[in-house]
Amino acid sequence: MAVYEHDVLVVGGGLAGMRAAIAAQQLGADVAMVSKVHPVRSHSNAAQGGINGPGVGEDGGPWEEHAYETTKASDYLGDQDAITILAQEGGREVLQAEHWGVVFSRKPDGHLAVRRFGGMGKARTFFVGAITGQAILHVLYEQLMHPARFQAMRMYEEWFVTSLIVVDGQCRGCVALNIRTGELHAITAKATIICTGGLGRVYEPSTNALICTGDGIAQAYRAGAPIMDMEMVQIHPTSLKGSGVLITEGARGEGAYLLNKDGERFMTKYAPNMMELASRDVVTRAEQTEIDEGRGVDGCVFLDLRHLGEQLIKERLEEIYEIARDLVNVDLTKELLPILPGVHYIMGGIKTDIDGLTPLPGLYSAGEAACVSVHGANRVGANSLLDTLVFGRRAAEHAVPWLRDQKFARVPDSVVEDDRRMIRGILDRSQNGDRVAKIRRDMGTSMSANVGIFRSPDKLNQQVQNLTELRARYDAVGIDDKGCVFNTDLLFHIELGCMLDCAEMITRSAIERTESRGAHTRLDYPERNDAEWLKHIVLTRQQDGSEKMSYLPVTITEWQPQERKY
Ligand SMILES: Cc1cc2nc3c(=O)[nH]c(=O)nc-3n(C[C@H](O)[C@H](O)[C@H](O)COP(=O)(O)OP(=O)(O)OC[C@H]3O[C@@H](n4cnc5c(N)ncnc54)[C@H](O)[C@@H]3O)c2cc1C
Repeated sequence: MAVYEHDVLVVGGGLAGMRAAIAAQQLGADVAMVSKVHPVRSHSNAAQGGINGPGVGEDGGPWEEHAYETTKASDYLGDQDAITILAQEGGREVLQAEHWGVVFSRKPDGHLAVRRFGGMGKARTFFVGAITGQAILHVLYEQLMHPARFQAMRMYEEWFVTSLIVVDGQCRGCVALNIRTGELHAITAKATIICTGGLGRVYEPSTNALICTGDGIAQAYRAGAPIMDMEMVQIHPTSLKGSGVLITEGARGEGAYLLNKDGERFMTKYAPNMMELASRDVVTRAEQTEIDEGRGVDGCVFLDLRHLGEQLIKERLEEIYEIARDLVNVDLTKELLPILPGVHYIMGGIKTDIDGLTPLPGLYSAGEAACVSVHGANRVGANSLLDTLVFGRRAAEHAVPWLRDQKFARVPDSVVEDDRRMIRGILDRSQNGDRVAKIRRDMGTSMSANVGIFRSPDKLNQQVQNLTELRARYDAVGIDDKGCVFNTDLLFHIELGCMLDCAEMITRSAIERTESRGAHTRLDYPERNDAEWLKHIVLTRQQDGSEKMSYLPVTITEWQPQERKY
């Protein structure tokens, strides 16, 4: 076993991790990044639609407008101090990305082009065709690797973090498995920044990559860091029939319609002003209502792009044109696309302050894994990429000055031993006829059925029981591959354990919140209840393994809660 030492350890190579690593390098820290996949294969790569740019020229619009719309979309659960920072500093991040070389789409006059996203009063979303995430991620990676600008950074590529190291009440790095060799190592650090992304695959179907399994959230929870707003799961209005692949909101941003089986633009009934570009939770509920009341076809409604014309579709929405053609044999220029709501994003996560710091000293988090909270009960489209850049940078900017006074702690061998024993336990278990993949699927489909768009006490309680059974099956299931080189069987097993932790946290929080707010709709409590529930639900694992549920007030600075209409 080798022990590695770094000032800053960034866990995750998506946009939040890259932005944090660049900022930490610029401040002269010795930085390491660990990622279970090659960094540019992170889910950030899949972001299609765009990034909001408050304050970027006239099109970005005043930051106050963006902050208000983000607050309103959050159903007033977002913390307004954090939202203000997102809006004030976000524009600078978009421009920085452009200056680093992101080839944003442009208008004929050369200015950056914008499209309108849901929940926003105006078009303020900057984009690179329908590959915005990929374009930014590759440019950040270039910056990170550029020898002329930055000192070399240690990249633990295809290393899988199995747990966080906590010694004397402080986070000291992580234990990680080198996937190529199967060896476990301690990577110690003065500051650890968790940027492990979301957990979309806790549900099936999902728009998320297969690697979005909530590892960092579960590991932070196990290490004693508080986890907040887990009941707030975003279900995106447009995922593709069958596979669940995302169809970007950029399509509606460019003017696509939603139709039911009678060809009616049903959003007239639900959000007459903003129609298809109402907030995501509103559109999702509208679609599901149409489907449930028999106005869908095969569990879907339709996205209609035909009137946008071939040139616009192929220039600005080329990727979804290809997805529709290749996956469901639909020509978007001539035909309707069957779509349905699909699980997309977790608004909750590791609770941090506005500098990414968690209450566990030495532990930071940013990006989808974190809950700052800027998204509250419902995230505005194109705000997540912005969140990764703003708070990834801020986490590093806080961590580096702080760690200058810190010393490396001696990490006991037992931290690695514990994980080695956990892995040995999995490898030694004999096959019992059950499969990790089957448990994972049963978890995903039951989460969608019982903790999805419309939630009822019967279904939520049913899911508590399902999860108890799934946990028992998980504890008993073995794997086929007993080897140590690229043992993906083993990784899937460990990931499933993290997903079950997350599924349990989501379900417990959803039971607790007896009101409807944003993405959380309780059929037995259909109204928002500010008197009792204008607060965050926080889950913390105690040292004895029990869980404490507590509450935190929502930070309100400018915008008092109002009735939310679109
Ligand atoms: C299909 C799709 C389209 C989207 N489109 C948009 C959009 O247009 N605009 C927008 O604002 N948002 C969009 N989003 C949301 C946004 O892309 C994500 O929330 C954001 O990119 C998350 O970035 P991140 O850096 O937090 O995590 P990710 O990009 O998910 O990166 C997570 C990193 O953590 C690493 N990791 C995880 N677990 C471990 C472990 N155990 N050990 C080691 N490494 C680990 C992974 O290897 C990876 O490098 C979209 C999301 C999806 C799924």
